[in-house]
Formats: sequence, structure tokens, C-alpha cells
Amino acid sequence: MVNQMVLRFAPSPTGFLHIGGARTALFNWLLARHKGGKFILRIEDTDQVRSTRESIDAILDGMTWLGLDWDEGPIYQTDRMTLYREHAERLIREGKAYYCYCTPEELEEKRQKALQEKRKPKYDGRCRNLEGPIPGRNPAIRFKAPQEGKTILPDLIKGTVEFDNAEMDDLVILRSDGWPTYNFSVVVDDATMGITHVIRGDDHVNNTPRQILLYQAFGYPLPEFAHVPMILGADKARLSKRHGATSVMAYKDMGYLPQALVNYLVRLGWSHGDQEVFTQEELIRNFSLENVGKSAAVFNQEKLNWLNGLYIRRENPETLAQLLLPFLEGKGLKPRNRSWLVEVVKTLQERSKTLVEMADMAEFYFRDDFQTDEKAEKKHLTPIIKEPLEILISRLGSTLEVDEKGLEEIFQEIVARKNIKLGAIAQAVRVALTGKSVSPGIYEVMRILGKDEVLKRLSRANKKL
Ligand code: GLU
Repeated sequence: MVNQMVLRFAPSPTGFLHIGGARTALFNWLLARHKGGKFILRIEDTDQVRSTRESIDAILDGMTWLGLDWDEGPIYQTDRMTLYREHAERLIREGKAYYCYCTPEELEEKRQKALQEKRKPKYDGRCRNLEGPIPGRNPAIRFKAPQEGKTILPDLIKGTVEFDNAEMDDLVILRSDGWPTYNFSVVVDDATMGITHVIRGDDHVNNTPRQILLYQAFGYPLPEFAHVPMILGADKARLSKRHGATSVMAYKDMGYLPQALVNYLVRLGWSHGDQEVFTQEELIRNFSLENVGKSAAVFNQEKLNWLNGLYIRRENPETLAQLLLPFLEGKGLKPRNRSWLVEVVKTLQERSKTLVEMADMAEFYFRDDFQTDEKAEKKHLTPIIKEPLEILISRLGSTLEVDEKGLEEIFQEIVARKNIKLGAIAQAVRVALTGKSVSPGIYEVMRILGKDEVLKRLSRANKKL
């Protein structure tokens, strides 16, 4: 295929997959899918100290949970060390890079001095023109950055951004221990993997001119760059743990559905008219960088909850039952069987914003030692209800099984006989069965609890009257 788009997500495995990273991954994935391009997952694990296997697994889990599948990878930078060394040596041969023998102590001393003198710390180029090696020292390799002129970044989101080359350091590209630096390995990888579009957070904007200079030094064609504005918390500070959970998998644990989170994330920066709810096909069909905004997006938990509630309502009950299981397990609640659980779910789907909320609300179906709302009990379980309740108990006792229609008839009969309001008996039964004054429809609740359980709970309440 000619001109296939190639995109990548290139996380550093130094922590879990966070909300910002997931949005970056999503934008890359969507553009690849929209254009029939390729999406590569590359793990930038050259930070030996901070990279961990756990983080790698957490990132892969997060991507998988969100449904962001990759066509190639995961490719690990640590498997590509030879490539980086070869590239660095090529620049040395061509006079575009040089060995630097400065020690960390020397560099730090100069840095401190610059700071004291209120100058911007910058490598002074001491090793640019060395005659020969300094014995006994392992050199790093530095890029000979042009010291004048401008570097232009034509950004698909930000427009054209200019940088003064005089501001740019002679960047270390290979450290003295042989490890490449981020700006170097990212260029070698993006260029050799044929990446056509680099979409990433705009915290990387200042790295990009350094990368462009490296592309130019190698004679590699530049990819298109698109720097996406940051995600902020409600206080307009950059989204961080302070604002609540930032890890994607924490949202799984809090009972969010991946499709809801994806739908939420895509709208943090991208828009399509004023549409808020998108199927995956609609996202793939409509996504484009032209509609990614220039200003930072603010994370809004309320809106995420609203979307999640909507996705829960739309999900089929069998699937939801399956998703709910781990949350029930976490509370020690064991369903009678699968079809029973599906019935439970159907009664809660309309009223739950998260699976955690659903599991909490479901509790009374599973156990009768729930906490009873005392105010509700006082209000609805009063002596006038004693006789109606007794009639109900006896009528149920002589009925084989309860269905909604039969129950309604029994209730109407009691209402007529005792001249009370339907609400009075219904609320009393509700509190007796669920411990609360709000619950799914009372006939449904009774059917799902089953006759024996209903009788047990009603008799218990009756004794208290
Ligand atoms: N490893 C870098 C990061 O996680 C990748 C940045 C990029 O996409 O170039 O921030």
C-alpha cells in the first residue's frame, strides 16, 4: 500500500497507564483505524532505574481493557540497543556528534555556577573540539547542535512553533554507560519504524526541535507532529493524583465500563459537532486531528459518571452480570445462579452509575442482615400497617410462587379491604425487604427474592410492630 499511515504509542514503563497516556494512545489508535493505517506499541524502557516489568504489564492491561489493540509490538527499546549505537557512531563519523569526557561532577559544578550567575544552564561545548580522548574516562556521545538559526515545528494542532537554535544544548545522545537518551532513541525509532504521525502530549513540545535537528542530521524525512493539550483538574492545574484516581485500571476497579471511559476520553480534546455519545464505529469514522482543540481539557468526574450510567443502561444484562461478578465477590456476595443474577441486574441497570454502586444496591438481594435506614423504618413500618402486613403474609403463604401480576392483585385486594393507600403498604414492604425507602419496583424485588425469603423478612418486620 502506498503512503500507509503509521502511528505509535510509546509509553515509558515507569508507572501505570494514566488518563493522559490513555488519551494519547486513543487518539493515535483512532487515527490509525480511521485511515486504515498501522498502530505500533513501543515500550520506551531505556530508563534502567525507573522502568519496571509491573509497569509494562499495567500498561498492556490498560490498553487491552480499553480495547486499544496494536498491530505491531510491544517493541522494547532495550532490544534495539545496537541500532542506537550504530546511529550514534554514524553521527560521529560524519562529524555531527562528538565524544564528551566531562564527568557528572564537572557538569553539575558548571550548572550550579550558571544558576548562581542567573544564566540558563547550557553545555559549554568543552569537548566539541578535543584533540583526543581523555584516558581513564568513558565518554558519552553528544550531538553537535547548530548554534544559530531557527528550527521550525509545523504542528498539526498548535500551528507553527519556532525555536531559536541558540537555546539548544549539545544534547547527550548516548550516555557514557551506553544507554541512549529519550530524544535520540525516539528519533531513531520513529524514523526506522516509518512513523508518519507523532501524536503526543504537549509536554513534549520542547523536545521536538531537538528531535527535528536529529532527523535533519540523519537526513530522515520528518513525520507530522501533533501535540495534544494537557488534561487539567477542576482547579486548572495539570491532572494529578491530587485530583483523584489517574490510573486507567483504577477506573476499572471503581466500576466504570471501558467503552464509557473511551467515550469520555475522546471528548477531552476532540469534538464532533455537539455530539457526546459515540459508538466505536462512529469514533473511527469521524475522528480527525482537525477537530482536536488547541486549549487544555478539564477532567470532569460528573460527566464521566453520567456517561458511565448511560453505558450501563444500554449494556445487555447478561454482559453486565458478568462484569458485576468481581464486585459482588469483593463484598462476599454469591449469586444463586446466573439467570437469577441477570434478573437482579435488570432491576438495577436504570439506577446505577457505576458497577460499584450497582453491587452496593444489590446487597439486599443476597443477604438479610443489611443495615436498615432507621428513619425509613420509623416512617413506614407503623402499627397501622400490622394487619395489612399480616394479610399479605398469609396470602403469600398460601400462594405457590409469586409473579408481578399475582402480587399486584394481592396488594390491591389488601388496599381495598383495609382502606389504606397502596403507597403505605408498598413502602412498608420495601423497608422490610430492602432496608431502604428507595429500591427497584417492589413486585420485581419480591419475585427475585422468592417467596421464602420474602416471608422470612416480612415476618421479621411484623414482629417488630
Ligand atoms: N516515552 C515518552 C513518554 O512516555 C514518549 C513520548 C513520545 O511519544 O515521543 O512520554
